[in-house]
Amino acid sequence: MTTVFRSRHVVLPDGENAADVVVSEGRIVEVLAHGAAAEGLGEIVDLGDVALLPGLVDTHVHVNEPGRTEWEGFATATRAAAAGGVTTIVDMPLNSIPPTTTVAGLEAKRKATDGQLYVDTGLWGGALPDNTGDLAALHEAGVFGFKSFLAPSGVDEFPHLNAGQLEAALAEQARLGALAIIHAEDPRILDAAPQTPGPQYADFLASRPDDAETVAVSGLLAAAKRTGARIHILHVSSAAVLPLLRAARAEGVQVTAETCPHYLTLAAEQVPAGDTAFKCCPPIRSESNRDQLWEALAAGEFVGIVSDHSPSTPDLKHLPRFGGDGDFAAAWGGIASLQLGLPAIWTEARRRGHSLADVVRWMSAGTAAFVGLTTKGAIAPGMDADLVAFDPDGEFTVDPAGLHHRNPVTPYAGRSLSGVVRTTWLRGEPVDVAGTPTGRLLNRGEA
Ligand SMILES: [Zn+2]
Repeated sequence: MTTVFRSRHVVLPDGENAADVVVSEGRIVEVLAHGAAAEGLGEIVDLGDVALLPGLVDTHVHVNEPGRTEWEGFATATRAAAAGGVTTIVDMPLNSIPPTTTVAGLEAKRKATDGQLYVDTGLWGGALPDNTGDLAALHEAGVFGFKSFLAPSGVDEFPHLNAGQLEAALAEQARLGALAIIHAEDPRILDAAPQTPGPQYADFLASRPDDAETVAVSGLLAAAKRTGARIHILHVSSAAVLPLLRAARAEGVQVTAETCPHYLTLAAEQVPAGDTAFKCCPPIRSESNRDQLWEALAAGEFVGIVSDHSPSTPDLKHLPRFGGDGDFAAAWGGIASLQLGLPAIWTEARRRGHSLADVVRWMSAGTAAFVGLTTKGAIAPGMDADLVAFDPDGEFTVDPAGLHHRNPVTPYAGRSLSGVVRTTWLRGEPVDVAGTPTGRLLNRGEA
């Protein structure tokens, strides 16, 4: 069965163009001029002026199942993904119990995905102080790489690495050729920072200074240089990190970095007192910092933009709306935004003069390439027909209760955003979030 997707705004690898995209057996087989598909070739899905994008690839999602499914589960997370135009996620190894740090933990996670995936899903492994001996087997079993923390992760079962443990973990990952992804905040800087609990965002921001990121990244770059590991800095929040990355790259260190919609679209100056939906680590920083992140993004210094969707239950967020005290120090640090990344980024990107092709490069092509998903991230012959009908001029106001992720919490509540996802297709079939899930579990290098 063949389907032709026709739009006057297809985002192709070389930019936006009017085109017919011919799909057969779940793959894109041909890209033709608009209207050029032969009569009777197959069903025509004519999107008119609604844009056709490759599905987004979000390589940083915390699903939390099994073990903390009340925070987020595979069915709810992947429904939110599909509704937001994300057709592939890669799940983080922590906050689920067990964490994905042994082959048994990986098997438990895989089992938990059974019959629940509305989009394709890969799994990261984790590197802990005591599991260096498990990394080879996890790598062999198909995890996408290994996450570690340099400061406390927020959950007891996923301890952070000290300098010596980091060195050992990176040496092993270099030997395996694995991708080392790191939450880079320095615990000594965090310990020395002023700790003032309460509802004022400025107090929370002061407790996680820029230095915590720059000091951690400096140490990490030195360790990467010594071990030859390929490292990736997760969720860069402080623009002060950027010159360090440039200098390291100039010296040949294999280092990449990502940033997130909340660092690019929100700012410390706008966080209301007590609104702990905005708490994440590292934190949302100043408006001027945000401008510098946009400049780096435009200059190609990030592989892309990922959600770092990391929800919890509303009580752990201490949200006043749910009867909590609004204490930023005590609240769970994590932003829930998987479904909103595309419109949030598009709203701000357009305002700053960027195109839909830029957004696709940051949220689909770049992230797919980063994790080696060679059949994802582009509308081109041979690629999976993971597609999104996106109305760039549509507008909506965010109602947390209307989102598909498990708990109705998001810092975007009440915001007006531009860009509406009309339909998401996975391998050529529309995703029905009320119907049968059709997502697949992906291993590293498989797609
Ligand atoms: Zn994360």
